[in-house]
Amino acid sequence: MRHETRNKKAMRFDIITIFPDIFSSYLDESFLKRARKAGLISIVPHNLRDFANDKHRKVDDSPYGGGPGMVLKVEPIYKAVEFIKRQATSDRRQGRNIFKTRTILFSLRGKKLDGKVAARLSKYDRLILICGRYEGVDERVAKYVADEEISIGDYVLSGGELPALVLIESVCRFLPGFLGKRESLEEFNGSHPAYTKPAQFVLPKSGKKWKVPGVLLSGNHKKIDEYRKRHG
Ligand code: SAH
Repeated sequence: MRHETRNKKAMRFDIITIFPDIFSSYLDESFLKRARKAGLISIVPHNLRDFANDKHRKVDDSPYGGGPGMVLKVEPIYKAVEFIKRQATSDRRQGRNIFKTRTILFSLRGKKLDGKVAARLSKYDRLILICGRYEGVDERVAKYVADEEISIGDYVLSGGELPALVLIESVCRFLPGFLGKRESLEEFNGSHPAYTKPAQFVLPKSGKKWKVPGVLLSGNHKKIDEYRKRHG
């Protein structure tokens, strides 16, 4: 994944994680793979442990004030973000950073990810995604390192890796050229029910028929549009 051809226009996602290998199998399939091959996006996982400052590569410690579990330390995360931003300097022109970058921390207290947030984030050239683990992340990351915190929903996952994949895919759908048909973006305004062949599915045992609504078979596009709006 690190050897993608550089494309000035490619949107770049840098992921800071203690599990960098989680990403390859999902990113090597389907739309995201095609988008990476086409130079539309590039996705670079970074192992947080590479930024630890001791020989045991320790990136977590126990919480001040007591309590169970471990907390990711601020220093390795700060260093990783600085490293990623420094890498971007080789792409600077005339001392001016031509890339719009946003640093995001995944957190249960963050703003809820939805289509609007994804569309807004798709306007950036680079997103730096910080994946929490264990009991969470030293609060100084939210305060000083990240530009914003994002949650993908009110349920607790074991880390920010799945949220990172969810965010990447939802953002990519807003990049011109990512989807074959721009119409698919209409999902953003709600989704209408879809059917495909056969027009009648006959249940093997009972002989009951599950039918496609007649209007969709009618060829009357005005009526079909109305149907879709009504059910969207
Ligand atoms: N005890 C912590 C939970 C930490 S879960 C708390 O109550 O805040 C560990 C990490 O997983 C979090 O730091 C966050 O980065 C990520 N995470 C878990 N669920 C998430 C969600 N729904 N959205 C975004 N990130 C999530």
